Amino acid sequence: MNTNHTAPRSRTVGVLALQGDFREHREMLEAMGHEVREIRKVGQLEGLDALIIPGGESTTIARLILTNGFQQPLRDFCASGKPVWGTCAGAILLAKHVDNLDRPGIEMMDISVRRNAFGRQVDSFEADLRVKGVPGEPFHAVFIRAPLIDDVRWPAEAMCTLEDGTIVAAREGNMFATSFHPELTGDNRLHALFLSLCHSPGGPPK
Ligand code: GLN
Repeated sequence: MNTNHTAPRSRTVGVLALQGDFREHREMLEAMGHEVREIRKVGQLEGLDALIIPGGESTTIARLILTNGFQQPLRDFCASGKPVWGTCAGAILLAKHVDNLDRPGIEMMDISVRRNAFGRQVDSFEADLRVKGVPGEPFHAVFIRAPLIDDVRWPAEAMCTLEDGTIVAAREGNMFATSFHPELTGDNRLHALFLSLCHSPGGPPK
């Protein structure tokens, strides 16, 4: 049977590789059949279909973004309409408002984020969550010294909350932010949803 018409297109996806868990994103994307480029220089952003800002240490990544001249190019990439996704530290970097970051990040999503918000005793935890746009089973989400999203302002919207209503994923147009780490669980549904936002020449993905 020819199933080519339903096979998702292979994309060229950048993963910012200044610090953090970029390898885990790389492995998941490659297992899905996509080309992955680890981004360490501004010029490598050219020609990407989508970009992921991984988890790690947001103060360190923010410093490296500034010292490597990435801030404006990353802002331009977000403004281009191509999909951009920040996971954990990456979500902190995409937020316009962060309670406790000692330097600016990328600041493109109209969300407020609180770093290390879940306290020391529960620095890491897991939860099965419903994520808007992800049908089927709940998504098993891994939180590692995670931030929470205090507020989303339109056109940003919440995509996922904990049982108590705490927002842990948000979307603003082409930009996603998740407090948790979908690259660590073997469930690629969020990566697939993210890449479904890629533009196709000649129209949106079928
Ligand atoms: N606590 C980290 C920070 O604030 C984020 C943790 C993570 O990315 N897993 O940068």
